[in-house]
Formats: sequence, structure tokens, C-alpha cells
Amino acid sequence: MYTPEQIQDFKNLTNKLLEHLDSNNHSLIQSSIHSISEAAKEVTDLRDVINFHDHMYYVQSESIITDFEYDRLFKHLKSIEDHFPALATDDSPTHRIAQGLTKEFPTVSHIVPMLSLDNSYNEDDLIDFDRKVKDLSKLESVNYTVEPKFDGGGISLVYENDRLSRALTRGDGIMGEEITPNIKAVKSIPPKANFSKYGIKTIEIRGEVIIPKEKFKKYNKDRAEAGLSELANPRNAASGSLRMQDAAEVARRNLDAILYHISYAVDENGNDLLGSTFKKRSDNIKMLNDLGFKTPIKELKILNTGKAIVDYCEEWHVKRDNFTYEIDGMVVKVDNLELEDILGATSHHPRWAIAYKFQARQARTKLLKVEFQVGRIGTITPVAKLQPVALGGVTVSSVSMFNEDFVKDKDIRIGDEVVVERAGDVIPYIASSIKESRSGHETIIHFPTHCPSCGTKLIRSEEEAAWRCVNNECPAQVYERLVHFVSKDAMDIAGLGPASIDRFIKEGWVSSIPDMFRLPYDDISKLEGFGEKSVEKLKLAIKAAKQKHPYRLLFGLGIRHVGETTAKNLMEEVNCIEDFERWSLEEFNALYDVGPKVAQSIYEFFHSEETVNLLNELKSIGLQTCKPQKSGSETEGKLSGQMFLFTGTLATMTRPKAEEKVEELGGKIAGSLSAKVNYLVVGADPGSKVEKAKKLAGVKVISEDEFLVMIA
Ligand SMILES: [Zn+2]
Repeated sequence: MYTPEQIQDFKNLTNKLLEHLDSNNHSLIQSSIHSISEAAKEVTDLRDVINFHDHMYYVQSESIITDFEYDRLFKHLKSIEDHFPALATDDSPTHRIAQGLTKEFPTVSHIVPMLSLDNSYNEDDLIDFDRKVKDLSKLESVNYTVEPKFDGGGISLVYENDRLSRALTRGDGIMGEEITPNIKAVKSIPPKANFSKYGIKTIEIRGEVIIPKEKFKKYNKDRAEAGLSELANPRNAASGSLRMQDAAEVARRNLDAILYHISYAVDENGNDLLGSTFKKRSDNIKMLNDLGFKTPIKELKILNTGKAIVDYCEEWHVKRDNFTYEIDGMVVKVDNLELEDILGATSHHPRWAIAYKFQARQARTKLLKVEFQVGRIGTITPVAKLQPVALGGVTVSSVSMFNEDFVKDKDIRIGDEVVVERAGDVIPYIASSIKESRSGHETIIHFPTHCPSCGTKLIRSEEEAAWRCVNNECPAQVYERLVHFVSKDAMDIAGLGPASIDRFIKEGWVSSIPDMFRLPYDDISKLEGFGEKSVEKLKLAIKAAKQKHPYRLLFGLGIRHVGETTAKNLMEEVNCIEDFERWSLEEFNALYDVGPKVAQSIYEFFHSEETVNLLNELKSIGLQTCKPQKSGSETEGKLSGQMFLFTGTLATMTRPKAEEKVEELGGKIAGSLSAKVNYLVVGADPGSKVEKAKKLAGVKVISEDEFLVMIA
């Protein structure tokens, strides 16, 4: 945890470093670093600052700097480490995205076995639990910690001499798989923590890796956009992530970790500190929280009667839908650690804790048939058509079954009675099929061997679990590709919905992206539902699309694994989309947040003749494949001739967005503060630029509100 003074210090240091970068134009060669000792100082500062922002962002959910500024600091640190390899260390934030791949995970024993908790499903069980604890301990009053049960993947972390030394999955409770590189990609887990302050040499901590519901939705949206199948729920996504081979992909999933239990803690002489120095579970959680871990401290209550526990569990049963994370129940544990030994454990469960599970939101219905949908890049998704059933406020009649493995693992058949589950506001999915109620007339779901749209033989890649149609001309894929191309996040062509595209394809007018720019408007105006007015609008929308920022085009091209965010990041690296045609695979691999699979996909896309031809054709049609120039006076507008600089955090838009806006209106963006700057726009927590600007004649210091008026 950071004190208010420390937070202020880090804000100041951040601004100092950013300004240093501003004035040095981000390049190490041009920067003032000449010796390794100067570099060492800068590296230390950068790491402290990045760890600080990681903590604020991932643990405190507070962003102090823009993503853009964060990336600049991160890239600068990376470039210094690359130039001075002697300065690279394992606990550097740049190592959170581990290089290289681990092919398999070694199995290692937990220091203390991870027993599973006894489950209860009704209030009587909780009252009973309280009574048993009091009987066994011969105490009249016992304090319990009561907290939400996070629904993710269980982990155990070991810190030695204040450093994260290894991380394991729960495994079978005795042995877990070592997944340390993946855990380093979880940014809310600090690689260093000051346990020695408490006299701890070695400590084992338990917790749960979990994806916040909002981020899970966003992640699924990105996956869908990148042409991949969606994941069933946040729990699967989190626990699946732990065992992935690609740490960069783990980082993309925006995992969080909630730590809620210390299972082992010894001092340098090997003395057990639990129960002696550390007496209460609630104090342990507070300590973890103070050391910078994300804990359930805000949700945790200390209660001492069965009735109070029942009430608090009920309160959460209602609140769970609006909570940041998916939870599947509550956990009740004895607060006094000395009591753990007195109460002991059965062969399966500790007697000092119990889990109270919420009833899942489920409904039973019948699986009527299965349709196979062909995605934009040919991925075949089985979709279950159900007898409509009400579930958590919506009617469910169609759910994705994701892929062949899902269908086989759950042994789902057509005609089966199935249990549909909906976790929070996440998409519903089939949790199981009820084998007992089978009549014998159910039929096994056979996956097609050939594309339902074009008849091409399907292939299945080993790691994807999905069957694909590899025919680029496949009508279903062409349709999905064009729908994606015109969609809001891509080219955003208003007035061109899926229905119109379907019609244009059927009329034989379009079969490729360039066709969208040579539509037969005369013929369209004769179609039912298209008046001359709507054709005029369509013409304008298509003309406007040609001028849009090239990241939209890049995203719209629908490269496998490339979602909107990746497309934006990619365009940061080049001036023109076609520059990527000259990039090597290594260069794609070296990009921050691009894993090997993604790099391979982008590389293959840009090194195909088809792509080269497509880009040439789009350019000749007049599409922008290059970013608007930073200098020069191509754009005329009301900010022409004006130079802008931003400092601090803007409240209504990101800095890149604001800069884009200025350039759209003909203005320019300054690289650093000088007398040439006309306007310094000041956001929250600005650096020392404001003071400097006031000393420069001609520089007007304006607020974000004033800026918004200027661009309105
Ligand atoms: Zn096909």
C-alpha cells in the first residue's frame, strides 16, 4: 500500500520521467543517458513508477496516467534494458510478459496441502456449523470471517526473502503445476512485497485468479472480433489462462488475483509464525492488503452468530449481480488461528471453515437442433437451438456450444433435456445434459466434415479446438467479413447493415471489400426499401469511410487474432499499413502484447500476394492507408496554424484521441514545450510544464473545458 505522501511522490516522479521522455523524443540514442550508472538510476525509477501504476490501476482500480503515457514509460524501460542487458532483472515489470514458451508445467508439492472446503447449500447448515465449532472449542462466542467466494482458478504463491519465488495451481490439493511465468503476467500480483518488515522469510499465500466481469465481456468481444470463438464464463477463462503456454496471451486476458489466506509463514530461523505472531485471519488479510495485494478486505465482515452469518450471506446473494467479480457463494472461517489446531480437519475438509454456495441460475429445457455457423475466418461454431426458456430475466432459445470438444466432453445430444446456466449477466450456456431422462431417441451430434456454406473440407488445427473452412471465397465468410468491415468499430459505414449486405451479395454486386466502394447506386435505388435519399446517404457514408484513420481499415480487414485494440497498437508502430509488408516475423514478435500466435497470423497476412494486391487496390480507390501527417498543412480547419501540447490526465478523452481531434481540425501537436506552442491544455495532475509555460510568452495555458469549447 502507498501512503498519500508516497502517491504524491510517485505522481511527481512520473511527470518528471514523462517530461524527460518528451524532451528526449523517446529515443534512447538521443536521450541524455550516456553511462550504465545513469541508466541504472533511470531503470530503478522507471520500475518503481511502473510498479506503482500497476498497483494503482490493477489493485486500486485508479488510473493516474493514460494508457499512452504508461506505454511510453514501459517502452522506454524496455529499450534501456535492451541496450544495457546487465540491467535486466527477473522482477522487472517488462518480465511480466514472459518471453519464450514453457512446453509443460512441472508438478510441485504445496508446502501445506490445499484442502477443499465443506459445501453447504442452506441456512441450517450454517447454523449447524456455528454450533459444532462452539461445541468443539468449548467457547460461547467465536468470531468468524465471512467473505465472498470468488469463482476463478485457485493458486498458491510462495514468496522468499520478499520476492515471488514460485506460483502453483491448486492441482489435486497436494501437488500443483508450476505456473510462475503466467502468474507474473497478472499485474495485480506484486513481484516483490516487504514481508521482512513483519519478520517473515518464507510465506505461502492462497488466492484465486479471476477476470472481472466487464473485462471478460470486453475480452470475449475482442475474441469475436478477431474471429475466435467466445469463452463460456469468467471462471473457465481465468482457470484456463493459468495453464496457457503463452504468457503474452495471459496478459491480454486482464486477469486479477484476490489473495485471502496465508497457509504458511516462517521467520529466518524456521519458526512457524501462524497462530503465534499472527493470531487472526482478519489481521493476515489486512497485512496482505497493506503489502499491495488485492484482498477481500472491503467485503470481509467479522461476525459471531449463526444468524448474523446467514443474514450477511443473504445480503450478498442479492448483491452478487452488481459485484465486479463472479462469485458463487460465501466462505465462513474461524478468525482465531489458534482455534484451527483445536478444531482440526476431517479427512476431506477443515472443521474451521465452510463454504456456502448460492444456487446457480439454471433452467431446464430441450435441445431441438444444432446449427453450424461459419465465422468470418471460417471458424465453425455449433449453435444449440432450444425450446425457449426463461432464465434470469431473459428468454433463451439459442446458445453457442463453442466447439466440438465442448459438445463431446458434456456428451450433449439432440433431443436431450439440458440444463442452461447463466452466471451473472454473462451469456447463457449449456451446463450439462440430463442423461437419466433420455428416452433412447436422442441423436449424437455429428460435426460436419465439409463447410455448410461452400462444401470445402474442414480442417482442425491442434491448438484451436475449432474446425475451419479454409476457402477464402466461402460465401458465408465473405458475408461475415463484409459485415465486420462496415461495422461500427471498423469502417463504421452507416446505412449498411447485415440485411443490405446479404441482399447485395445475392444480387451479385459485392463479393469483396473493394466492391463496397463501387456499388451500383442506380440499381440500388430501384431496390425495395432503398429510396434515392437513402442511396445519397449511403454514397456520403462510403465517401467518408475513405478518409477514416487507417487503424479502422486495418481492423476492418479482419486479420485473424487482430481485434480493435491490437489494430490501434499496430498503427502506432508505422505510418502506413503497407509498411508491415516489410516487417519480419521477429519484428511482430517483439511488439508489446503480441504473442507468437498473433505475430504469426499478422506476418502471414501481410506476406501474402492477396493482401499486397488488396491494399494496392484499396489505395487506388482512394482509401487512407497512411496516418494523417503530423506536420505539413494538408488539413485546413479552424485550428490551422495553432500548435498544441497536452499535460496531465484528460477527463473526457484519452490524449491520443485529443491529439487526433486537433489534427483533424488542422492544428499541430508539439513534441515538447517551447515558445512555438500556442496552447498548453492542462488535465488533472499536470507536471511542472504548467509553471514553465507561464514563463514563456505566447503560450496560453487552458483547461480541458476551454479546449472542448475550441474544438466543439
Ligand atoms: Zn466455406
